[in-house]
Amino acid sequence: MDSEHLLVGKNHPVWTIFDKTKAEVRKAIIKARIVSGTFILNSDRAKFNQAPSSVCQLCNLSEENISHFLLECPILSNTRITYFQPIKTYVTEHITAEVWHSVFQSKSNIIRLIIDCRHFSQTLRDDKIMNMIETKTREMCYKLYIKRLKLLEAMDG
Ligand SMILES: [Zn+2]
Repeated sequence: MDSEHLLVGKNHPVWTIFDKTKAEVRKAIIKARIVSGTFILNSDRAKFNQAPSSVCQLCNLSEENISHFLLECPILSNTRITYFQPIKTYVTEHITAEVWHSVFQSKSNIIRLIIDCRHFSQTLRDDKIMNMIETKTREMCYKLYIKRLKLLEAMDG
Protein backbone atom coordinates (compact mmCIF):
# COMPACT_ATOMS: atom_id res chain seq x y z
CA MET A 1 0.00 0.00 0.00
CA ASP A 2 1.39 3.41 -0.89
CA SER A 3 1.76 5.99 1.82
CA GLU A 4 0.80 9.07 -0.19
CA HIS A 5 -2.74 9.09 1.17
CA LEU A 6 -1.46 8.61 4.71
CA LEU A 7 -0.06 12.10 4.81
CA VAL A 8 -2.09 14.31 7.06
CA GLY A 9 -2.25 18.02 6.56
CA LYS A 10 -3.88 20.71 8.64
CA ASN A 11 -7.04 20.21 6.62
CA HIS A 12 -7.49 16.56 7.46
CA PRO A 13 -10.89 16.08 9.08
CA VAL A 14 -9.18 14.48 12.07
CA TRP A 15 -8.74 18.04 13.34
CA THR A 16 -12.42 18.87 12.91
CA ILE A 17 -13.45 18.18 16.47
CA PHE A 18 -16.99 19.16 17.32
CA ASP A 19 -16.90 18.10 20.92
CA LYS A 20 -13.67 19.63 22.18
CA THR A 21 -13.36 17.61 25.37
CA LYS A 22 -9.96 16.28 26.45
CA ALA A 23 -11.05 12.75 25.54
CA GLU A 24 -11.98 13.74 21.98
CA VAL A 25 -8.75 15.69 21.50
CA ARG A 26 -6.77 12.67 22.74
CA LYS A 27 -8.55 10.47 20.18
CA ALA A 28 -7.78 12.97 17.43
CA ILE A 29 -4.09 12.97 18.38
CA ILE A 30 -3.89 9.16 18.16
CA LYS A 31 -5.77 9.13 14.86
CA ALA A 32 -3.50 11.84 13.45
CA ARG A 33 -0.47 9.76 14.39
CA ILE A 34 -1.96 6.70 12.68
CA VAL A 35 -2.92 8.71 9.60
CA SER A 36 0.47 10.39 9.30
CA GLY A 37 2.42 7.19 9.85
CA THR A 38 4.03 8.53 13.02
CA PHE A 39 2.24 5.95 15.13
CA ILE A 40 5.12 3.52 15.50
CA LEU A 41 4.29 -0.10 14.81
CA ASN A 42 6.82 -2.91 14.89
CA SER A 43 7.34 -2.91 11.13
CA ASP A 44 8.54 0.73 11.38
CA ARG A 45 10.60 0.05 14.47
CA ALA A 46 12.44 -2.84 12.83
CA LYS A 47 13.48 -0.57 9.96
CA PHE A 48 15.32 1.61 12.43
CA ASN A 49 16.63 -1.32 14.46
CA GLN A 50 14.60 -0.37 17.49
CA ALA A 51 12.85 -3.71 17.64
CA PRO A 52 14.33 -7.16 17.11
CA SER A 53 11.67 -8.01 14.57
CA SER A 54 8.84 -6.48 12.60
CA VAL A 55 6.48 -9.23 13.75
CA CYS A 56 3.43 -8.23 15.76
CA GLN A 57 4.16 -8.87 19.43
CA LEU A 58 0.51 -9.48 20.18
CA CYS A 59 -0.07 -12.44 17.87
CA ASN A 60 3.41 -13.29 16.50
CA LEU A 61 1.71 -14.21 13.22
CA SER A 62 2.81 -11.54 10.80
CA GLU A 63 4.42 -8.19 10.28
CA GLU A 64 2.81 -5.43 12.32
CA ASN A 65 1.95 -2.76 9.80
CA ILE A 66 -1.03 -0.44 9.57
CA SER A 67 -3.18 -3.02 7.81
CA HIS A 68 -2.35 -5.68 10.41
CA PHE A 69 -3.11 -3.28 13.25
CA LEU A 70 -6.38 -1.89 11.85
CA LEU A 71 -7.84 -4.96 10.15
CA GLU A 72 -6.00 -8.21 10.75
CA CYS A 73 -4.45 -8.83 14.14
CA PRO A 74 -6.62 -11.59 15.68
CA ILE A 75 -5.79 -10.44 19.21
CA LEU A 76 -7.51 -7.14 18.51
CA SER A 77 -10.50 -8.66 16.76
CA ASN A 78 -13.05 -8.16 19.55
CA THR A 79 -12.22 -4.48 19.82
CA ARG A 80 -12.22 -4.18 16.02
CA ILE A 81 -15.64 -5.81 15.65
CA THR A 82 -17.11 -3.68 18.43
CA TYR A 83 -16.01 -0.41 16.84
CA PHE A 84 -15.97 -1.23 13.13
CA GLN A 85 -19.41 -2.83 12.93
CA PRO A 86 -21.22 0.45 13.77
CA ILE A 87 -19.17 2.20 11.07
CA LYS A 88 -20.20 -0.39 8.50
CA THR A 89 -23.82 -0.21 9.63
CA TYR A 90 -23.80 3.58 9.48
CA VAL A 91 -22.24 3.66 6.02
CA THR A 92 -24.53 1.00 4.56
CA GLU A 93 -27.55 2.88 5.90
CA HIS A 94 -26.49 5.78 3.69
CA ILE A 95 -25.09 4.12 0.59
CA THR A 96 -26.86 0.73 0.61
CA ALA A 97 -25.26 -2.66 1.17
CA GLU A 98 -24.72 -3.18 -2.59
CA VAL A 99 -22.58 -0.07 -2.88
CA TRP A 100 -20.70 -1.08 0.28
CA HIS A 101 -19.88 -4.46 -1.22
CA SER A 102 -18.68 -3.02 -4.49
CA VAL A 103 -16.62 -0.19 -3.00
CA PHE A 104 -15.35 -1.74 0.21
CA GLN A 105 -14.44 -5.27 -0.75
CA SER A 106 -10.73 -4.47 -0.76
CA LYS A 107 -8.75 -4.06 2.42
CA SER A 108 -7.00 -1.01 1.06
CA ASN A 109 -10.33 0.77 0.57
CA ILE A 110 -11.41 -0.08 4.12
CA ILE A 111 -8.13 1.36 5.35
CA ARG A 112 -8.73 4.48 3.25
CA LEU A 113 -12.21 4.79 4.72
CA ILE A 114 -10.79 4.59 8.24
CA ILE A 115 -7.91 6.93 7.56
CA ASP A 116 -9.66 9.57 5.48
CA CYS A 117 -13.20 8.94 4.30
CA ARG A 118 -13.02 11.95 1.96
CA HIS A 119 -11.46 9.54 -0.54
CA PHE A 120 -15.02 8.38 -1.05
CA SER A 121 -16.71 11.78 -1.10
CA GLN A 122 -18.31 10.89 -4.46
CA THR A 123 -19.94 7.87 -2.90
CA LEU A 124 -20.64 9.31 0.55
CA ARG A 125 -21.61 12.77 -0.80
CA ASP A 126 -22.75 14.40 2.42
CA ASP A 127 -20.36 16.29 4.76
CA LYS A 128 -22.48 15.33 7.73
CA ILE A 129 -22.03 11.65 6.91
CA MET A 130 -18.28 12.06 6.45
CA ASN A 131 -17.96 13.94 9.74
CA MET A 132 -19.81 11.14 11.49
CA ILE A 133 -17.55 8.52 9.90
CA GLU A 134 -14.50 10.52 10.96
CA THR A 135 -15.77 10.59 14.56
CA LYS A 136 -16.49 6.86 14.52
CA THR A 137 -13.17 5.87 12.93
CA ARG A 138 -11.36 8.09 15.41
CA GLU A 139 -13.05 6.13 18.18
CA MET A 140 -12.12 2.81 16.57
CA CYS A 141 -8.45 3.79 16.14
CA TYR A 142 -8.28 5.00 19.72
CA LYS A 143 -9.81 1.85 21.19
CA LEU A 144 -7.47 -0.36 19.15
CA TYR A 145 -4.53 1.75 20.29
CA ILE A 146 -5.55 1.47 23.97
CA LYS A 147 -6.14 -2.28 23.70
CA ARG A 148 -2.74 -2.83 22.05
CA LEU A 149 -1.00 -0.64 24.64
CA LYS A 150 -2.61 -2.45 27.58
CA LEU A 151 -1.75 -5.87 26.18
CA LEU A 152 1.87 -4.87 25.51
CA GLU A 153 2.18 -3.39 29.00
CA ALA A 154 0.80 -6.57 30.51
CA MET A 155 3.40 -8.59 28.59
CA ASP A 156 6.24 -6.40 29.86
CA GLY A 157 4.66 -6.89 33.26
ZN1 LIG B 1 -0.97 -9.21 15.53
